[in-house]
Amino acid sequence: MPMNRFQASKDLIAITIAALAVVVSLLTVILQRRQGQRAAYREMYTTLMSEDLHRGRFLIKDLPQTEDIPNNESDSRLIYRTLGVFDNLAMFARQRVVPRRWVLEVWHHPLKDMHEGANIIRQKAIETKDSGAISPWPQLWILLDKAEAYHSTFPCCPPDNGWHGRVRRLTATWHWRSPGQPAKP
Ligand SMILES: [Zn+2]
Repeated sequence: MPMNRFQASKDLIAITIAALAVVVSLLTVILQRRQGQRAAYREMYTTLMSEDLHRGRFLIKDLPQTEDIPNNESDSRLIYRTLGVFDNLAMFARQRVVPRRWVLEVWHHPLKDMHEGANIIRQKAIETKDSGAISPWPQLWILLDKAEAYHSTFPCCPPDNGWHGRVRRLTATWHWRSPGQPAKP
């Protein structure tokens, strides 16, 4: 019957419009979230690239060579502050406040460079009970492990186009373990 067919096509149009509305609002939510993540990263990046954080990073990086934690109070405070900021970056990445891939892509080498020195300071802080925490900067170690495993497609890392490298890159931002879980041996 023509009337029924008219009604059916009207219903179909209504359903299509409703479905489109759902898709559009979902896309809006995703885009807004992404925009928020990028803005948060930009803000964090300004801190990370500030002159004193830069100096703090190099103090930590050079620690395994000098094998001595600076006695100088302003230097040791700067080291603690630097590790605190990176611990915060690690939390932001874990909670997806900032894009995880951006964090790993930009910071994997600086983080690898800091890893050994940061471990020395952690050990020292645990021994002297400096920070009052059982193990200070709890989320930083997760990020440091992630950075160790990260492999970029950019020429900062040696090319690795085997399937193993591709899978590793694809899954780099997954399985962000929680601070309570022990690190894999
Ligand atoms: Zn690299």
